[in-house]
Order: sequence, then C-alpha cells, then structure tokens
Amino acid sequence: MKFTHVSTIIITLLALLIGCATVPLTGRQQLTLIPQSELLGMSFDQYHQLITESKLSTNQDQIALVRKVGRNIAGAANQFMKENGMQSQASSYKWEFNLIQEDSTVNAFCMPGGKVAVYTGILPLTQDETGLAVVVGHEVAHAMANHGGERMSQGLIQQLGGMTLQAALSKKPETTQALAMLAYGVGSQVGVLLPYSRLHESEADHIGLILMARAGYDPRQAVPFWERMASMGGAKPPELLSTHPADQRRIADIQKEIPEALQYYQPGGK
Ligand SMILES: [Zn+2]
Repeated sequence: MKFTHVSTIIITLLALLIGCATVPLTGRQQLTLIPQSELLGMSFDQYHQLITESKLSTNQDQIALVRKVGRNIAGAANQFMKENGMQSQASSYKWEFNLIQEDSTVNAFCMPGGKVAVYTGILPLTQDETGLAVVVGHEVAHAMANHGGERMSQGLIQQLGGMTLQAALSKKPETTQALAMLAYGVGSQVGVLLPYSRLHESEADHIGLILMARAGYDPRQAVPFWERMASMGGAKPPELLSTHPADQRRIADIQKEIPEALQYYQPGGK
C-alpha cells in the first residue's frame, strides 16, 4: 500500500516534469501524460462507436445549422491554433459535428480531436444560431485546451496508480475506456458524469467567447444563453450543468471577458 502511494507520488512528480503543456490563451500549465496521437486514436474510435449507437436527428434544417455553426467555430479554432504555434495540433484534428436525437438530454460535448455532438434537448435553450455558437464554442474550447487529455492523465494517476496508458489499455481496457469517456465529458454511455472542474469550465467559457467572436458571432449573446441555463434550476444538464462555476459567478465572469472577445468580433464576419 505504502509503496503504491509513494510510487504514485514519484510518478506524479515525474509526470509534472515531463508531461506538461500550456493551455492556449490562459497560459496555464497542465498535465499531459497521454501522447496526442494515442488520445486522438481512442477518441475517434469512441466517438464513432457512440455515434453509431445513437439515434441521429433527421431534421435536415437543424442538422444543417449545427454543421454550419460547427464549420464556423472550427475555422476560428484552426486559425487560432495556427497563429499560436499549435500547427501540429490543428492538423491532427478531424472535425465532425452530429446532432443526436435525444430531447431529454440538454447537453453537448466535444471529444479530443474535434469530435462534437449536440443533443436535440439543448436546442430550445440555444434558440438560434448565435446561441448554438455559445455552446459549440464552449465545447470546442474544452478540446482545444486539451481538457480531456488532462483529465485522463489525472484519472490514470488517481485510479490506476500511475499505470502507463499502454499498460492500462492492455490490463484494464474497460477501466481505461470508461475513464476516457468520463474525461471527455461524455456521460450517458457510462451512466456517471464527472463534471468538469470549475477551472476547466471557466477556461472553456473564456476561450469559447473568443472562438465565437472570431467566427463572427456576437459574444454578448453568451450572457442571455447562460441566464436561460441558470433558470433551469436543478434540472441542468450533465456537462453544462455544473454547479461549477455557480451560475451567477459564471455569468459575472463572462461579462468581464466580453470586452476582450469583442476585439475579435466583426459583425457579419462569418
Ligand atoms: Zn464545459
């Protein structure tokens, strides 16, 4: 027991020394134990499986809107990454946007490498194209900041005692897969959803505002969207739900970040 504990600490320290990356825009240092290629391989497989098993929307207008917003936000994200020395990350992304028919699920997610799904249950809250851009911008920001990889790295240390990814994949494939889904904020498949931390949510809000503005959407519209979310009370969705950050705090933070985002906003610039 003791040894495991000590070795976990040692591995953690080593990981902090070697497996570190910097989050774009916020400049925060983060733990990244999992090579991008491995992370993306797993993510693409799991996304494909999830999409295959889900009931996709057949509403062509709504699908077209999700893909249009997706293209615009992805374009802004690619451009941002290219301008900020993240060329290899940008070229490894394989953007995909799907609309899952599940009216009771008020949620959306973006798995590593740009694999996005929006549930039909969130459309009454997004209301229009700009509202959808708030959600897609937020989700794409989680991916761009590699929050999934960071959470998975933390999960490997906490749950598998610092076991390497290769060992975890061969010895505990179910655990690793469940861990990955949790780490990506994809909850319905495993039944439990680990909310993103307050830090990750705030970062995704901040980066998401910049992305939506760069894509030609008015970032000020993020405020009414989150107010609509807040008015849902306790019935809020898994990923976006978080009591982290608490609704009013989150809206106040977004309001403070809007002037920065407006610098990138060109009305009709889509
Ligand atoms: Zn989030």
